[in-house]
Amino acid sequence: MKGALSILLAAAWPLAAAVPTPLSYFGHEMGADRTVLDWDRVAGYFQALARASDRIRVEEIGKTAEGRPLIAATIADAETLRHLDRYRAIQEKLADPRKTNEKEAEKLITEGKAVVMITCSIHATELASTHTAVEFAWRLLTEDKPRFRAILRDTIVLLVPSLNPDGVDIVTRWYRKTLGTQFEGTSPPKLYQKYVGHDNNRDWYIFSQPETRATIIRLHNVWHPQIVYDVHQQGAYGSRIFIPPWLDPTEPNIDPILMQETNMMGTAMAADLTLAGRKGVAIHAAYDFWTPSRHYQAFHGGIRLLSESASARLATPIEVAPEQIEASSLGYRPRERSWNYLEPWTGGRWRMRDIVEDQLIAWESCLYNAALHREELLRGFYRVSQRQVARTSPWGFVVAGTQRDPGATRRLLETLRFGMVEIEKGSDGSAVIPMQQPYSGWAKALLERQQYPNDLLYPGGPPKRPYDVTAHTLPLLMGVQVEAVNQPVPTTGEWAPATPASGEILAASDTDTWLRVNGAWQSGKPVWRNSTTGDFAFRPQSGNWKRVERPRIALYQGWMPGMDEGWTRWILEQFGFAYTSVHPKAVQAGDLRQRFDVIVFADEPASAIAEGYRKGQMPDGYTGGVGTKGAEALQRFAQEGGTLVFLNNATDFAVERIGIPARNVTSPSSRGANTGGGREYYSPGSLLNVKLHTGTPLTAGLPAEITIWSEHSPAWDTELPVVARYPESGLLASGWLLGEKVLAGRAAMIDAPVGRGHVVLFGMRPQYRAQSYLTLKLFFNALVY
Ligand SMILES: [Zn+2]
Repeated sequence: MKGALSILLAAAWPLAAAVPTPLSYFGHEMGADRTVLDWDRVAGYFQALARASDRIRVEEIGKTAEGRPLIAATIADAETLRHLDRYRAIQEKLADPRKTNEKEAEKLITEGKAVVMITCSIHATELASTHTAVEFAWRLLTEDKPRFRAILRDTIVLLVPSLNPDGVDIVTRWYRKTLGTQFEGTSPPKLYQKYVGHDNNRDWYIFSQPETRATIIRLHNVWHPQIVYDVHQQGAYGSRIFIPPWLDPTEPNIDPILMQETNMMGTAMAADLTLAGRKGVAIHAAYDFWTPSRHYQAFHGGIRLLSESASARLATPIEVAPEQIEASSLGYRPRERSWNYLEPWTGGRWRMRDIVEDQLIAWESCLYNAALHREELLRGFYRVSQRQVARTSPWGFVVAGTQRDPGATRRLLETLRFGMVEIEKGSDGSAVIPMQQPYSGWAKALLERQQYPNDLLYPGGPPKRPYDVTAHTLPLLMGVQVEAVNQPVPTTGEWAPATPASGEILAASDTDTWLRVNGAWQSGKPVWRNSTTGDFAFRPQSGNWKRVERPRIALYQGWMPGMDEGWTRWILEQFGFAYTSVHPKAVQAGDLRQRFDVIVFADEPASAIAEGYRKGQMPDGYTGGVGTKGAEALQRFAQEGGTLVFLNNATDFAVERIGIPARNVTSPSSRGANTGGGREYYSPGSLLNVKLHTGTPLTAGLPAEITIWSEHSPAWDTELPVVARYPESGLLASGWLLGEKVLAGRAAMIDAPVGRGHVVLFGMRPQYRAQSYLTLKLFFNALVY
């Protein structure tokens, strides 16, 4: 009898005994105080689970920027896993109502599974969710309870234990290095993703980084998940966990069906957390749903969920006194009860294990509700696609065949196509994007101008801070002419890009030359690099190409990790520029002109460049900035013929510390990066119109009027040569701008002669997140000035 029972158990839970526990494998409980994980051990654990259980498959979906394996686990009943091709085919068919009629769809909805993707620790200092992934996978595979049975039966779980494995190791190494010192729990003094750091979740429509691309190619575009749940952490002093509903504004191209389902799922998760006795659960707070840079799936038929747990100090517990809890936040007051924050957390000890426990409940709830609502979610998914395909206004978009910048045009079209947008060839050589296709809302969002609401905290009050930026109009960012049309346009098959040879001149006109260099499109002149010899060539305003000395570029890298510095490295590498990263000490050492022709300071506050971390804030070796000594060395560098390039807020350093005679009409406080400021002027990531002073080397290859990326950007009154100037009116091209009057007629870019050299001030981010191909030309021109 005993034997028969164990056979029965073995049949119900095959191999369960062989599944290693997290404790036995890692030597500690997940989320235990002062424990951090190594990526190879996490990947190894998932492989061990896959060897021990037939309910999980683990695959490598790509490599990270630093070459680590990016992995995804697929978890479901063994029977489901045996027929994954069948379920993928169902998803594929439901995704396209042009191929699947209502009757077929209803049959597929009965048969299909709800596909739920959970992605962890894209922000590597928000480390708890990788611990949760380990424990949750183990529990789901080994615990027999009704909710888990429903999840395994009715869903397919795609679990990504980290979207940023490089960051897992960067943070783990730093944490161990500082453990037991006064710096325990600090963030590493370098970006936790090689190029973009925290901006790795601002990459989800331009798809620049290998982690983003692999996840889209291998998971999103193959599985079309009904739900993508991205797991994050927030500051330590507000709610313990946030879950949608989102705050307004929501991007208008996201289907209302998905918004309603998001509200339903998020509220169900909050209810389960409350039921489990967890305190400090906030919904409809702090986070809006505007920029698609974080929200790929919301434009591809899926619900996009987020949770934001309060952080400890990495894996180190903290004590929070009641008076340390924030008095107010967007959408709720963390010390008070409200409908969307029913049981305030009142302070005390907060540990990584608390975060893991909240996440275990939230994940189980998300998946169980997906199982419960399997049919509705699949039907909603099909319905959303039907509504996309039925779109009539506009009929579509036309990208003219003749453009100033064919390279940027191609990049725009390839970007759309990467996001599953179908593009056709117009009979006149144009590219045509009809809206009658499943992801037309995605294309529309990226091609149209954004009308961000005039969102004040209260009438006459300061602006309500957008969670990220307010504009995402690719044609303006890339300088590509795109027209919305309301009548059908004849087409002749699928659009395909031309493929010229490396280093070949693709097209030339009176104003521009375009080249492909080292596999990347380099748009505009005057610089290009021969991929064989590494030589640079430069064409002045008139005359033939002439070979010049390759510019020796330095890029400043302080100890406070700057995402804009990382993006700049990325752009330089993509376009074939060699560069040297210089730290504060190298700047102070002087003799800069002997080593470099150009020194670039990416967007960061002047104080970060000048002072960096104070002594005692970080270990010795990671404190200090360039200081007065560095400022003098930089001034001498320009006097001796070098070019200093300052981007956006770094320009304050040029004015304040190098003495460039320009008066910034937008003081740093009026730029209002957070709530409170910005009543007179607020430009939280918007596209603005400027006029260029053409006919100079800095504006070569550009038209007289362009749009620039403005993000809390300075503008100046000055007697110096102005390269770009705001018009008197009509500044806003896309997004949101308060205080047009402050900017009107002011300088947005200055070329200050200093001795034999120059200091170039950009009141913009000309290399914004690898998107602003139009103003990249201004930036590149400055490098070969
Ligand atoms: Zn985050």
